[in-house]
Amino acid sequence: MLADPTTLRRALEDLAHEQGFSRVGVARAGIPPRFELFEDWIGRRLHAQQAYLDRSLPLRRDPALLLPGVRSIIVLAHPHPDGDPAASDGARTARYALSEDYHRVLRKKCRTILERLRREGFRFASRVCVDSAPVNERAWAALAGIGWIGKNGMVMNETDGSYFWLCEILTDARLASDAPVAERCGSCVRCLQACPTQALLAPGLLDSERCLSYWTIEQRGVIPEDMADRLNGWLFGCDICQEVCPYNGPAPAREASRNPPALADLLSTGSASWKRRFADTALSRAGLSGMRRNAAALAESSGRRDLLPQLRRLARSGHAVASAQARRTEAKLQGRMP
Ligand code: SF4
Ligand code: SF4
Repeated sequence: MLADPTTLRRALEDLAHEQGFSRVGVARAGIPPRFELFEDWIGRRLHAQQAYLDRSLPLRRDPALLLPGVRSIIVLAHPHPDGDPAASDGARTARYALSEDYHRVLRKKCRTILERLRREGFRFASRVCVDSAPVNERAWAALAGIGWIGKNGMVMNETDGSYFWLCEILTDARLASDAPVAERCGSCVRCLQACPTQALLAPGLLDSERCLSYWTIEQRGVIPEDMADRLNGWLFGCDICQEVCPYNGPAPAREASRNPPALADLLSTGSASWKRRFADTALSRAGLSGMRRNAAALAESSGRRDLLPQLRRLARSGHAVASAQARRTEAKLQGRMP
């Protein structure tokens, strides 16, 4: 059966909801909306040292380079844990990372949907993208009616707030497009005011060089002192500009499947134990040495002198960045630095 747009759409939505997706939207393929703003952001170097963004500009501009003949971009939203992300010592881990890695979870769900559609006789080409191909997913999500892009840069809507993962299925099937939803931030500026590093220069305009998520996830070097000082308890990522958003509501509904790691735990755990607990989560992206670097930076900003023995051990370890971070923290905690 060739893909009849209405029947395919109905089958897709049924299967997506069955797989736990909360929203499905479709946008017509082409140049992503607001692409000139994205290019301007790159041109101003506000993406800091994320060189892959420079390299991927042509692919982001033209999704047909990712799937020849692409006609529709299906965007799917899946809720993620939204409970308190603090460990027993207060160290906080971004909510999205406290469960099995969404890259593999969402990919598996999308593949299940596509297999079921094929078994039902639909024929179309497709490509699943879960952060695995350069797609400007927030722009597509907004165009596909999943939500609006808030002043904190996140896609959000009135029912789910912003605590959800996104993924896309590019397809050559012709599907009816959804209408974008109205922007509902209004006069609210809570996220801009709450950011501890003033990384949100203007509504939706992020300076990555100042963002705690960038420093604790993307950047692999030593976290500079002025950023470590403003970690505000964040060990991996930062949810502050989402936590203050009125659309995220006060009552968490979805508990994480993993307990967030505490600093003492991270600094002393062996790699086998680390792998057992976190290898299948998004924390594996930073790796144990990256998480220890973050732990050392957070120990510095929270004055954790009780961790000096573990920090000394880390300072002598073979991990260049983590040990450099630990040496600075050790010096600071011992008052050898101003
Ligand atoms: S993630 Fe944290 S540091 Fe980055 S913009 Fe949001 S509040 Fe600021
Ligand atoms: S905190 Fe306010 S301004 Fe920021 S994203 Fe939420 S509603 Fe929009």
